[in-house]
Amino acid sequence: MAYISINFDNYRHNLELLAKKAGDINKVIAVLKDNAYGHGLLEMAPLAAAVGVKWAAVKNKYEASIVEPFFERVLILVDVPSSEVNDKWVFAAHSLESIAKMPEGTTIHLKVDTGMHRNGVMMNEVDEACALIHEKKLNIEGAMMHHSSADIVGTTYFVQKENFEMVKQRLQEFSSKYGFKDLKFHSCNSAALLRHEGSFDEDFARVGIASYGYTDLPSAFGTYDLKPVLSLWAEKVSTRMLEKGDRVGYGGVFEAPKAMRVSTYDIGYGDGFSRYDGKSDLAIADGRPILGRVSMDSLSIEGNDDKVCLFKDARGLASHFNTISYEIVTKLATWIVRKVEGSH
Ligand SMILES: *Cc1c(COP(=O)(O)O)cnc(C)c1O
Repeated sequence: MAYISINFDNYRHNLELLAKKAGDINKVIAVLKDNAYGHGLLEMAPLAAAVGVKWAAVKNKYEASIVEPFFERVLILVDVPSSEVNDKWVFAAHSLESIAKMPEGTTIHLKVDTGMHRNGVMMNEVDEACALIHEKKLNIEGAMMHHSSADIVGTTYFVQKENFEMVKQRLQEFSSKYGFKDLKFHSCNSAALLRHEGSFDEDFARVGIASYGYTDLPSAFGTYDLKPVLSLWAEKVSTRMLEKGDRVGYGGVFEAPKAMRVSTYDIGYGDGFSRYDGKSDLAIADGRPILGRVSMDSLSIEGNDDKVCLFKDARGLASHFNTISYEIVTKLATWIVRKVEGSH
């Protein structure tokens, strides 16, 4: 069956490069949300821990419960707390409304909207948020923001950074008033950390895509020696000989220009591989084109190999489908077996 190969050496290499940027592996929060960007939560969590990462970030409580044994703390980015108390779980608090509903004692990092306008309390709600956190007896351990434009040349990145500096100051003032202890601050995703220059003075950086080997930073910011971690493989289901003029797959979009041997492999759009329509050229890792349309569970390639590598670097598919490497890897179905290769 189709499988995903995880290259642990590359993952370690990327994490170590990011740890160097952040100054310390203890400052790296490995973002493992959405099944570790499709790489496999259960496979990636122990690998991150083996490199020395102490904090993970996930989407919801379900993911948190899976990765929890491997980390000191787990930051839950989207889900809301329930009354079950768990010492390791830290919830991102996204609004006054959600803070008001949190059970007493919930550990939170306050998310502040410094300009992305997606989540977080507004800057002018920070005072009210602090009062509410105090009143509700929540355990605030830090504050965070998210960049909307860290991988774009422009001023937004700097405006958000400055805004967060103001937020930090304000929170420090409230710390003495309400007795919040030793707040931790973090603002960077992969792109923001990679483009950061000089010593890194925040407590954490939340790194996702760069740890998996990709960045969309324009080369103006420099180039980074990141190595893709995931490759996708499929196995042969059947082989046949075609004559010139025979057609392959739905709609017969591919027409054999000559007699040729064609094999069908067990990956398709039902497995999260994008549905190529067979029209403009799209090649697998070794350069051979996909013949005709991708089916739900299969696709066709010339030749007779027992298995083929669909991609080792998601950027080719991302560019073909006018999307980003994040989407190509994250969409890969959970049931595809993940095999970890490399020294560990
Ligand atoms: C997904 C996410 C990240 C990681 O972003 P990358 O660009 O993949 O590094 C960081 N912080 C938050 C809040 C996120 O949702």
